Formats: sequence, C-alpha cells, structure tokens
Amino acid sequence: MTDFAQIRQLVGLRQAAEMYGLEVNSFGSARCVFHGDSHPSMRLYDDHFHCYACGAHGDVTDLTAQMFGLSKSDAADKLCGDFGITANKSPPVVQRKRELTSREKSQFALDILTDYVVMLRHFREHYAPFSFDTELSPQFTESLQNLDYAEYLWDAWFDSTEDERAVFFTENIEQFRRYYASLVKYGFIRPSLA
Ligand SMILES: [Zn+2]
Repeated sequence: MTDFAQIRQLVGLRQAAEMYGLEVNSFGSARCVFHGDSHPSMRLYDDHFHCYACGAHGDVTDLTAQMFGLSKSDAADKLCGDFGITANKSPPVVQRKRELTSREKSQFALDILTDYVVMLRHFREHYAPFSFDTELSPQFTESLQNLDYAEYLWDAWFDSTEDERAVFFTENIEQFRRYYASLVKYGFIRPSLA
C-alpha cells in the first residue's frame, strides 16, 4: 500500500512541479493543469495546491497524476522513483497527537490568512449589491466586517520573524478559528487543513 502522507512529507510539491516542467512564478502560482488556464490561478504550497479558478486541490501525488495522466498509485510510484523514496511497506504507525512546531504554526497562519483574504476579496467583488435597496448578502457583509483586519494581519505576518509568526498564531488563535470555520462553511478550505 502506498503511503501518500509519507510522500507528502518527503517531496516538496513546488519542487516536484518545477522538476516536472510546470512554470511557477515568483508568487508560487502556476497555470492550472486541471482546467484550460490562461493565467496562473493555481497556488502551490509546500504540501498541497489549490486552484482559485476551478477549485481543484490536492497533494503532490494528485498533481503528478494529473500532469502525466496516471492513476494516483502509479503517480506515487513515479514520485518514489524520481525522488529516491523507499516506499514504507510496514503498517502506518498510529501517531500521538502532538503540539504543532513553530514552523507549522507559522505556515498555518499564512495559509489561513491567504485563503481568507482571497475569499473576502472575491466576496467584495462578486457579492456586491446591485443597488441601494438590495439586501446585503452574508458574504458581502462578512467582507465589509473582516477584510480590513484580515489584510492587516496578513501584512503583519510578512513583517514578522519566524518566531514571532508562531506566537502571532497562538495569540490570535480565536481569530484563526473563526476564519477557518468560515473557509469551511463556504467550501474554500484545502484538504491539508481540514
Ligand atoms: Zn484550475
């Protein structure tokens, strides 16, 4: 049985994408391989991708499968071969729940803020009322209430050191929980966070 989680840990998605010939710009985005994409709508993260145009998301094995027209397990074999991974044949060890590392906290903070800001900007643009007497949609209202602050937190993340980012995540955990819940509610969430 193929251990997709092990591959996710050992192969950087962006590194694999570039090695397989996907053109990734300096923002970490590429033209989506799941739909006819004329602009780079697909965002590549360390362990997953998300296309903001067609909603495709998944991990490095999903991406490889799509790029080469392979089944998921054949794509996993290809990754193991190309990246020199010895497949783990032993049954998966049940992992104890553990405290997140500073790096993981920092990454979560960035992932959630990025998705949330992108979602609210989308709501601001696409859910705006047509006239003064149209009732405001919940999506537009949420963008009015939260977009400025979420953008402020997003900027703060980029202005912080790695250690500060972990503290920042812990200190604003309630905020992140709310953002996360909203991303789940509107289906904007990526599987690695779910
Ligand atoms: Zn797409």
